[in-house]
Amino acid sequence: MKNLNLKKFLVLLPFLVSLSLSAQKNEVPRFEFAVSVPDPGSHTYHVATRILNWPTDTITLHLPNWMPGYYQMMDYYKGLKNFKVLSGQSFDESRPATWVLTGVKGKAVQLEYDMYTDRTFVANSYVDEDRAYIIPVNSFLYAEGHLKMPITVTVEKSNGWTDVVTGLELVEENAQKAVFRSNHFDDFLDSPLLMGNLKKLPDFQVGGTNHRFWGYNAGEFDEKKLMDDLKSVIEVASGIIGHIPYEEYTFIGIGPGRGGIEHLNSSTVSFDGGQMGSPQAYQRMVNFLSHEYFHHYNVKRIRPFELGPFDYQNGSKTTQLWISEGLTSYYAGIMVRRAGIYSEADFLQEIAAGITQFENNPGKDFQSLIESSFETWHEGPFGTSGKDPNKSISYYVKGPIVGLLMDFGIRQATNNEKSLDDVMRHMYHEYYLKKGRGFTDAEFRNACTFIAGTPLTELFQYVYTPNPLDYDTYLGYAGLELEKKQETRTIRGRDGESTEKVMDVYSLVPVNNPNASQKAILDSWMGKNKVQ
Ligand SMILES: [Zn+2]
Repeated sequence: MKNLNLKKFLVLLPFLVSLSLSAQKNEVPRFEFAVSVPDPGSHTYHVATRILNWPTDTITLHLPNWMPGYYQMMDYYKGLKNFKVLSGQSFDESRPATWVLTGVKGKAVQLEYDMYTDRTFVANSYVDEDRAYIIPVNSFLYAEGHLKMPITVTVEKSNGWTDVVTGLELVEENAQKAVFRSNHFDDFLDSPLLMGNLKKLPDFQVGGTNHRFWGYNAGEFDEKKLMDDLKSVIEVASGIIGHIPYEEYTFIGIGPGRGGIEHLNSSTVSFDGGQMGSPQAYQRMVNFLSHEYFHHYNVKRIRPFELGPFDYQNGSKTTQLWISEGLTSYYAGIMVRRAGIYSEADFLQEIAAGITQFENNPGKDFQSLIESSFETWHEGPFGTSGKDPNKSISYYVKGPIVGLLMDFGIRQATNNEKSLDDVMRHMYHEYYLKKGRGFTDAEFRNACTFIAGTPLTELFQYVYTPNPLDYDTYLGYAGLELEKKQETRTIRGRDGESTEKVMDVYSLVPVNNPNASQKAILDSWMGKNKVQ
């Protein structure tokens, strides 16, 4: 019976395939974009768009106002010039970042515009004579209420550029162009493109999955060592979560600068291999790349409920960036340590530096982690550009500290049988893989209770309130102590002025005679044995 059905199906298969192809070609609404850079010296690129098979008479098009991963309004529409509808439909552009076209039903709509760029930053497109960094949220219009549809983008090579790299699926590539496709604007808008004469570092595999690193102006450095170390940190991260969800992962180095942004199967990172001369600078870079990489789990897939579907026009506010950013920073340190790139002392030093930064910020007594997460749209990503920076904190700084205390709290409560790793793994499998959605604040807290077997009431007060942190108790579970001394340090203020300040400087040291429980927790946390 099974065979018979299969035979019938196989006979029908060519017909079904051709039917679905013709349906897709003729009826399904779709977007076709083309990008070219005819005059890179003008810092401008050209975008042509074809919209096919639109089912209604009116279409409302938007350019996104922000980039998921960078929680600031970017107003990309301000760089858009010379908007034209070549197919003749009338349009209304009275609202910012919005174009409403009428008379589009069933027509091949063609429009074009130029995008001017003036800032080399990871969350902005930028073109010059040497490269074109094209960010989809900065470049392409999407139709309101219609994100799921076939999309292609043709990138026309010019200016002697040979390489186009992106996380998008490649359809075809030759010397003149590269064509990519996607089936959803959320994925399409999440996939920056970099064109130029790029350096390709050696590919590596983790769990049979390919990982690539392409860079513009990547500098001179030991490429094999960096790729070996990236492979090691990715093995640690994928070992913690227990699953690799992408078919291929691409690091896209956009040249010297600061900052990186995470994507589903790529990250765009400011990268200058020539700046990794000292062991500390090298560790900082591997830590930074680990942070961006871990985000494909934590925020892209293990995500707060509010961060998907995104509100590309108004921004998506959440109280949980302390998880998405803070715990990502915490796990970047874990990855670098367990891959053997940080010594134990290096790792403790990194954590102590974070504690020093946090404890010397007067904002710690005013703002909680959830407030800091929610207010980031006003106060800047590091909590420093609001009205009163002395009353704000950064979830990048406090988040990993609270993550550490939670990790030790869970380990202590479970006789070191469970840890924060189990919480992250649970969130991934339960909410991303099984439920296919984001989690609420209460669901994250419940997951911690579930893994720890007890409510972590005090630890969550460190999330909801600015209460002082009880370092002694939680660090003590792992046989660690915080030592404090006062030092005079030169601090650079927001105005660029340097001032001398007496600071409490912390170091984190193991106690001399740890008991068996403390030793077990410290060793497994450090990655000294298989139980992590
Ligand atoms: Zn981040």
